Amino acid sequence: MWKTFDYKSKKPGKKGEVLNKDIYRCGFCSGRGFAPSKKSTQCPACLGAGTIKVKSPAVICAYCNGTGKSHPNPDLTCIVCRGSGVVRVGTSKVEVCPTCQGRGREKGGNLPCLTCRGIGVVV
Ligand SMILES: [Zn+2]
Ligand SMILES: [Zn+2]
Ligand SMILES: [Zn+2]
Repeated sequence: MWKTFDYKSKKPGKKGEVLNKDIYRCGFCSGRGFAPSKKSTQCPACLGAGTIKVKSPAVICAYCNGTGKSHPNPDLTCIVCRGSGVVRVGTSKVEVCPTCQGRGREKGGNLPCLTCRGIGVVV
C-alpha cells in the first residue's frame, strides 16, 4: 500500500518514513514522462524527465499516497505534492500527524488535513 518511489531500488518504504534521496521516480507519470491518460502530453510534474528532484529529507505524500494524482480526478496533479509524489520536509525529525494519523486527509473528506497540510507528518 505505502510505497516509496526510490528511483534506483524501488523498495517499498514505511508510512511516514523519512527519505534521504534527492531524485525520485515521478509519481504522476510513474517515470514515463507523459501524463497518465494522454500519451502525447508531457508530464506536468516532471516536465517529461520521468524523475523529480526533491531536496532531502522528504516524505512520501500521504494525500495521494505517492501517486502524484489528484482526487477524485486522476488526470490532475496532486494539490499537496504537485504531482511529484514526494514532499520535502526539511528535517528528519518528523512525527505521524496526530490529526489524520498519517493519512493526509480530513476525516470523512477528500480535503488535505489542515494540521499536516496533507503530507501525513508534522515536524
Ligand atoms: Zn512525471
Ligand atoms: Zn501528493
Ligand atoms: Zn494530518
